[in-house]
Amino acid sequence: MRAVCWHAPTDVRVDTVPDPKILNPRDIIIRVTSTAICGSDLHLYDGYVPSMESGDILGHEPMGEVVEVGSAITNLKIGDRVVVPFPIACGNCFFCEQTLYSCCENSNPNAAMAEKMWGHSPAGIFGYSHLTGGYAGGQAEYLRVPYADVGPVKIPDGLDDDRVLFLSDILPTGYMAAENCDIKPGHTVAVWGCGPVGQFAIQSAYLLGAERVIAIDRFPERLRMAREISKAETINYEEVNTLDALKTMTGGRGPDACIDAVGMEAHGVGLIGAYDRIKQAMMLETGRPVVLREALMAARNGGVVSIPGVYGGFLDKMPIGSMMNRSLTIRTGQTHVHRYLKPLLERIQKGELDPSVVISHHLPLEEAPHAYRMFRDKQDECTKVVLKP
Ligand code: NAD
Ligand code: ZN
Ligand code: ZN
Repeated sequence: MRAVCWHAPTDVRVDTVPDPKILNPRDIIIRVTSTAICGSDLHLYDGYVPSMESGDILGHEPMGEVVEVGSAITNLKIGDRVVVPFPIACGNCFFCEQTLYSCCENSNPNAAMAEKMWGHSPAGIFGYSHLTGGYAGGQAEYLRVPYADVGPVKIPDGLDDDRVLFLSDILPTGYMAAENCDIKPGHTVAVWGCGPVGQFAIQSAYLLGAERVIAIDRFPERLRMAREISKAETINYEEVNTLDALKTMTGGRGPDACIDAVGMEAHGVGLIGAYDRIKQAMMLETGRPVVLREALMAARNGGVVSIPGVYGGFLDKMPIGSMMNRSLTIRTGQTHVHRYLKPLLERIQKGELDPSVVISHHLPLEEAPHAYRMFRDKQDECTKVVLKP
């Protein structure tokens, strides 16, 4: 089959690789019909995630048609259309039982290696380095889905791929980020980053009752999307000082909740040393704080800072004194996607959400190298790419 393979930082290629096979009775194989590139893939693309190996298949936002089922699978049959959540979860461990699916303790065969390197072991994730299990990703013609009795959600007829594909990751991610804000009537939520995750965090904040959402970015088309689709107020951080603007817009107090939908943001600079990375993250040279610090400093006393943005390695120069003295609550996590599949699918069916609005490009799988570059560099008003194998 054809698959998008990582070879080195900024070097992804479409290669011919062996087809996946059923390895476990709880596996299925899907023929991928749509598969997206995520902001998280950019961390791999730029080489910020260790333990990628040349030839690893990328992708964790896939959907498709079931073409083979393992002997233990009774919930799905050949021909069903499914969306596959990005975290791999067993469904019956201590964490899965608490719906903390992205903390599953059975799905990462390389847990010991991750523990050694990071001091913790994440759950398995499709196409996301050997530290998260070394699973082949979904930017391919076919994908093996482990624990298929727990993860994939069956899609009813009549809903096209574009409306449901983002149940795999970024829709639940934006939703969980907003849910983590404990939004009450009258609340103002500020969202850093108007990428796909930010857009869904903005929409979800309104769905969950926020009175005002203030969206921050620098790309006019992304800010426009936040204004036009969600009626958010916007700040272009290249034109004004974000902290000052937020103060003014909230009567001097600061937003009730702040969402960091940016994460590791230094894309486009290539591989750099750890010290440079920290300097850059802290923006010591530009005088602008890293987004996370800005969100922490902006939140009102007693407010919440919700962090869907992905961080890697160590970035611990956080203003803990300010966080402590101002009674902030910090919520974060890889999204527990399984928890949100059914309720968000229902909202899509009712027409309360149309996730397809963030898509700017549909491209053949073969054009993945160009798509990665374009999405990384935000060229051609690219907001989200869906690859079609
Ligand atoms: P994206 O790259 O398309 O969007 C990031 C946006 O942040 C861009 O529009 C960029 O202009 C903006 N930005 C950069 N610096 C900024 C600043 N100083 N202030 C305000 N905005 C700034 O990526 P995306 O797909 O939307 O993903 C966003 C983040 O969410 C990434 O870190 C990704 O890894 C993470 N993510 C997390 C999960 C999870 O499970 N927690 C799931 C999916 C994605
Ligand atoms: Zn993702
Ligand atoms: Zn589990």
